[in-house]
Amino acid sequence: MALLEIRGLKTHFKTDDGWVHAVDGVDLSVNSGETVCLVGESGSGKSVTAMSVLKLVPMPPGRIVAGQVLWDGRDLVPLPPAEMQKLRGREIGVVFQEPMTALNPVYTVGEQICEGLRLHEGLSRAAAMERAAELLALVHIPQPSRRVHDYPHQFSGGMRQRVMIAMALACKPRLLIADEPTTALDVTIQAQILDLLDELKQRLGMAVLLITHAMGVVAEVAQRVVVMYAGQVIEEGSVDEVFERPWHPYTQGLIRSIPRIDADASRGSRLVSIPGTVPSLVEPPPGCRFAPRCAYARDACTQATPALRQVGPGHRVACILEEAPQ
Ligand code: SF4
Ligand code: MG
Repeated sequence: MALLEIRGLKTHFKTDDGWVHAVDGVDLSVNSGETVCLVGESGSGKSVTAMSVLKLVPMPPGRIVAGQVLWDGRDLVPLPPAEMQKLRGREIGVVFQEPMTALNPVYTVGEQICEGLRLHEGLSRAAAMERAAELLALVHIPQPSRRVHDYPHQFSGGMRQRVMIAMALACKPRLLIADEPTTALDVTIQAQILDLLDELKQRLGMAVLLITHAMGVVAEVAQRVVVMYAGQVIEEGSVDEVFERPWHPYTQGLIRSIPRIDADASRGSRLVSIPGTVPSLVEPPPGCRFAPRCAYARDACTQATPALRQVGPGHRVACILEEAPQ
């Protein structure tokens, strides 16, 4: 049984222009101990999917209109807020993109890490402070017993993200959801944070659901990848399989857009991006939502939404093409 299994999830938002179908029928599972990357451009519904799992979607204007979020087989969608709060932090940890806004500037990082420990594990102040220092050591912050007394502004961006990870891990969650944890950081620091996540996953045996818009990140850390486009999953499979034989034209575009550090820009191997933008999710285009941007689109593509179908071992794709385009 999967640790987390999302089935047919639909999360919509009411706006002045109508209902935005931000997540529109998503299936996704994460097994114990594996790293799954949820990848797609901004506006594809990745964060809303994660927020729906954690029940952190602001309601209203948001609403989970259909589907199940099974945690260890138990559906979280109908769970009352108090039960959900117990689960967040203790079973499912979360790290967001912007560590500065997630940390409270008026408390020391030690106090902030202690909060979760005291809330969920009932530790005394002294014991919690000691655990906080251990957690800072776990995420490789030098001089941890001194630094627990520092305030967020006394840390660099990368170090603050380490603090956020330490906070998320305080109660030893079985799943860590990390939403674009490295996007706000510069490239070398990004790589260090990804290495840290990978190391922690191995050491603590937890599962990771990593949300990113960068296909390069996927190849680095994940075992499995789920590609979202315009509120739907359009391809999923093992990282090996999807990188070797990407099928959906959108996935192919994402892989082509990976910046190549070794590439010689003067010889034309520049960053290639996918022309066009994610469509409006108030009235999504009929059939395949990628059709307006797809070089292979034909009439049949706009007649019905292509269902996910198996194209290789554990590899599924939602596209009508009989073969992966070369
Ligand atoms: Fe392109 Fe058609 Fe495949 Fe959609 S279903 S990705 S439009 S070929
Ligand atoms: Mg996002």
